Amino acid sequence: MKKNMLLLGASCMMLGLCAPKATIHADSVNHLKSERQTIQNESKSLKGKIDSKRSVESQNKKEQSKLNTRVSSITSEVDQLTASINEQEQQINKKIEVIAELESEIQHLNRVIAGRKEKLVEQARALQIDGANMKYIEYLMSSENLSDLISRSQLVAQLVHSNRQALEQQKIDQANLQSKQDKQEQEKDELAQIKAKNEADQQTLIQNREKLNQEIEKLMNESAIAQSEREKLELKQRELNDKADLLSKQIAEEEAAQKAAEAARLQREKEAAAQAAQAAQNQASAYAAPVAQNQRPSSSGLIYPAQGVLTSPFGYRIHPITGASDFHLGIDLAGGGPIIAAQSGTVTAATFNPSYGNMIIIDHGNGLSTLYAHLQPGLFVSVGQSVAQGQQIGIMGTTGDSTGVHLHFEVRVNGSQVDPLGYL
Ligand SMILES: [Zn+2]
Repeated sequence: MKKNMLLLGASCMMLGLCAPKATIHADSVNHLKSERQTIQNESKSLKGKIDSKRSVESQNKKEQSKLNTRVSSITSEVDQLTASINEQEQQINKKIEVIAELESEIQHLNRVIAGRKEKLVEQARALQIDGANMKYIEYLMSSENLSDLISRSQLVAQLVHSNRQALEQQKIDQANLQSKQDKQEQEKDELAQIKAKNEADQQTLIQNREKLNQEIEKLMNESAIAQSEREKLELKQRELNDKADLLSKQIAEEEAAQKAAEAARLQREKEAAAQAAQAAQNQASAYAAPVAQNQRPSSSGLIYPAQGVLTSPFGYRIHPITGASDFHLGIDLAGGGPIIAAQSGTVTAATFNPSYGNMIIIDHGNGLSTLYAHLQPGLFVSVGQSVAQGQQIGIMGTTGDSTGVHLHFEVRVNGSQVDPLGYL
């Protein structure tokens, strides 16, 4: 029994008719699922990043609102400064006018004072005196007579009077000049102060404006960067979600296919089991009866090619080890002794094959041929040779994929294997 099982396993391998394994589908589904899980994890991690970008953007909006308040406050400062600067400009213009007026008055006084000084000097020179009162006495003392003295006295009195008046006026004008010069100096100082304040205010204004612009620009840049990064991340997330959706679709298709394949496999196994049971019943007599030599040919004209017990029929079998179903393309006769030609014909193959071992194929004409496998080394016939029915062609062996001495016998019609028992 054990040998038969092994032979069945060997023929499954040999003929390559093993049923496809359901585990292949399961593997591909698992692979798709793990791929989808990876993508979903990546998408989830992107969601976190996108949320953090959103919070940066919303924080930015709050800061922008705060900044707007600051902007209005700085704007009103700017307005005040501008008004103050305008006022200062007017003050400066007025001061300049005042200073110019003072300047012309100073020049006028300077001219008056200079002119008077010249006149006084002239008068003194005319009298050959230098203007000091004491010199007048000498002048009077040098009179030649009384009338000369009187005349000189009147002149001196006149001169002294006019001289005193001129000198007093000169003093007043000079004081006036000094006061105007002081005033002009003071105006100039004030002008310088106003100008300095004006410049300081303008500097502050420029700085405030610059600061404001920088803050606005910075916030706008940050917002733009956060938004562009978020958009990129969202695009990537959409792509990942599309990919995951596609994989879900593939998984569903694969699982449906797997289910269908499993159902088909169960159906095939069920049918094969039924067929095997039927075949076993049909072959009960064949199992019991050893193949005899010197037989009568069947209605198809064939005789049994060897003596032995039918251990494995043609057709589907449930593999005893893997549980998979496979198809046996011939019958196995376990026994020993000579192998004979089932019918007369021409040898078309007499060779060694790794699976069949030492094997022979005989062409019987009309598309019918027979195959004999696992023979002992030293085949009795060669390719092209004609053989008669019942002629020995070799000895039963266990070469190739075989674990016990038996003959694997196939009948082929136009190259396709058919159940040999239908021809024997
Ligand atoms: Zn076989």
